[in-house]
Amino acid sequence: MEELKSFIRNIPDFPKPGIQFKDVTTLFEDRYGWQMCLDAFEAILRYTPIDKIAGVEARGFVLAAALADRLKTGLVLVRKKGKLPGDVIRQTYELEYGTDEIEMHQGTVKPGERVLIMDDLLATGGTLEAAAKLVEKLGGQVVSTACIIELTPLKGRQRIGKYPFISLISYDED
Ligand code: AMP
Repeated sequence: MEELKSFIRNIPDFPKPGIQFKDVTTLFEDRYGWQMCLDAFEAILRYTPIDKIAGVEARGFVLAAALADRLKTGLVLVRKKGKLPGDVIRQTYELEYGTDEIEMHQGTVKPGERVLIMDDLLATGGTLEAAAKLVEKLGGQVVSTACIIELTPLKGRQRIGKYPFISLISYDED
């Protein structure tokens, strides 16, 4: 899958100095790159029983929606605090400085449902871990987590080691 890297744009010092931002919008906008990405996820997950795909705001929504159509699953939104209109459950997680919160609607996952959680990129793993906790609070089973990109030095894979994790490409710099 190394060829996917040619569609991803690196933006240095965004959103703050020292961060190498991996911009997947240039992958989404290219018909060949985008199809290659979806084909890869579809091939890996085709025979995994999945009831719902949960996408993490915002780039995870794009991936989750497209793959939910390919795999014929339901779609669930994991959103930043204060965006969902109905009753929610909330999970706090640590950032480099401070904390953040994500939410899901109550009842959006039913007890026993098999859920795949998707985001564009795994860094420290805090976001995916928080999303997995929300799915479990609702009684769902996290069958796997998946991202296009893994930033290997940040050891997110260890943090979410309890769950299967799929990435299509990885970078050795953080
Ligand atoms: P983490 O919770 O540390 O695994 O961070 C993952 C979340 O932050 C994902 O939603 C990513 O979109 C975003 N993120 C973190 N680091 C980067 C990066 N270097 N480039 C692009 N997105 C990033």
